Amino acid sequence: MANSDDNLLKKVIAHAKEYGFVFPSSEIYDGLAAAYDYGQNGVELKNNIKEYWWKFMTQLHENIVGIDAAIFMHPTTWKASGHVDAFNDPLIDNKDSKKRYRADVLIEDAIAKIEDKINKEVDKAAKRFGDSFDREMYLTTNPRVVEYQKKADEINQRMKDAIEKSDLASLRQLIIDLEIADPISGSRNWTEVRQFNLMFSTELGSVADEASKIYLRPETAQGIFVNFLNVQKTGRMKIPFGIAQIGKAFRNEIIARQFIFRMREFEQMEMQFFVKPGEEMKWYEFWKEKRIKWHKVLGLGDDNYRFHDHLNLAHYANAACDIQFNFPMGFKELEGIHSRTDFDLKNHEKYSGKKLQYFDTEDNKSYIPYVVETSIGLDRMFLAILSNSYTEEKLEDGSERTVLRIPAPLAPCKVAILPLVKKDGLPEKSEEIMKELRMDFKCYYEDKDTIGKRYRRMDAIGTPYCITVDHQTMSDNTVTLRHRDTMEQERLAISALTSKLQESVSMSSLLNKI
Ligand code: ATP
Repeated sequence: MANSDDNLLKKVIAHAKEYGFVFPSSEIYDGLAAAYDYGQNGVELKNNIKEYWWKFMTQLHENIVGIDAAIFMHPTTWKASGHVDAFNDPLIDNKDSKKRYRADVLIEDAIAKIEDKINKEVDKAAKRFGDSFDREMYLTTNPRVVEYQKKADEINQRMKDAIEKSDLASLRQLIIDLEIADPISGSRNWTEVRQFNLMFSTELGSVADEASKIYLRPETAQGIFVNFLNVQKTGRMKIPFGIAQIGKAFRNEIIARQFIFRMREFEQMEMQFFVKPGEEMKWYEFWKEKRIKWHKVLGLGDDNYRFHDHLNLAHYANAACDIQFNFPMGFKELEGIHSRTDFDLKNHEKYSGKKLQYFDTEDNKSYIPYVVETSIGLDRMFLAILSNSYTEEKLEDGSERTVLRIPAPLAPCKVAILPLVKKDGLPEKSEEIMKELRMDFKCYYEDKDTIGKRYRRMDAIGTPYCITVDHQTMSDNTVTLRHRDTMEQERLAISALTSKLQESVSMSSLLNKI
């Protein structure tokens, strides 16, 4: 299973490159680790995902507006947000292999191994006992399973304590006690654990002293917090209201791998929702429900999503969860939903000396609002769609096709217009149709190769419809419309095309389902 999913990721990466979705960054120089470029089809898919998010958040919610803040921010921003002091990963090097790891990830992997053992015991017992198997009972009474669980909990607790106290020596000791070996070399020859700040820094202007050091933002959220009052006042926003933003974020990830899942430069789509203190849990639940619906409407399969509650809450959060997606590497975080209290605004107030409060006319008093945020990685969303839609099919005639079953409104190209032959006025007729349709839909015209080959190329980039112009078209103004997923064809009048396509490929057809 793991192997075939590994293969799926490899195939998706190869396909993404071959068909102009994602290229390794600066590939002619052998690439740059964890940086990727989006190609001609990738950028369209990415823009469509952004549009889907942006329209849902800002157009369908009257009390949410958008901004586009600068990537560079005053350096004190990151002091106030806690990123300078606490946006760290504990890292450890193996002296033999010279490979670098996140200490907490090595320990989490060790816990996962114990959990695998528990799952194996449970599977075995479930087979043995059949219908009468009581999972809960087994987990709490089987001595071997209880012992494993106790061990996993102890390790987790030791790790949590060490991280909370920034006790790096204890974190290292845990790795030694658990006899964790380098997954590549098998060596147990470890360095000390060090804290590694994930923010990239650079210098502003030409004077390279400490005072001019600035950071590339590691999240877009702070651009929203510092503009909270600007937007509230100029937009005359009343609480509850939200501010949305899409933009680049940068993190010097220690282990950047798994394609566009974990990059050093990536894009986030974040929304900060400002609420009355005490009402945050209601809005936290509200946004959990809204966001999962936004995902499920895409039709990637309801079973491919699950909520994962954070057990170890960050000090500023009073509730937090992830929406995990079933990526080829398993269930992993796609989006975070966090109730962040008044932590950020309160600290910006403290560090800037400016009042960041809202005057509530109903209660006749000022307060610092609480914040519920939704934060999704655009690139991870892209990977979720690409990997989920990649399908290899064996057809009835024995041939094979690779098709991207991308939700039609997000497809890079919506319709291809293909003259059956390159003569008898068919190309000219096709261009006429294209000129009309391209006002509403991203179209593609092609007259080279057999029609079968052209269909396959469109399948491979996920184009939901192909229009074929043939000799009959010249006499009765009808065309065939081929459906990507079923490969079925229907005959339609040219005049009926726009409304037919609108029904399934327009963004409003998708938004309407939410
Ligand atoms: P992880 O635990 O995977 O490192 P995180 O909890 O640090 O993620 P957040 O800070 O909550 O992530 O960021 C919000 C979203 O931004 C994540 O849900 C994810 O989709 C995206 N994201 C975070 N880091 C990266 C990255 N290095 N590359 C691509 N997307 C990312």
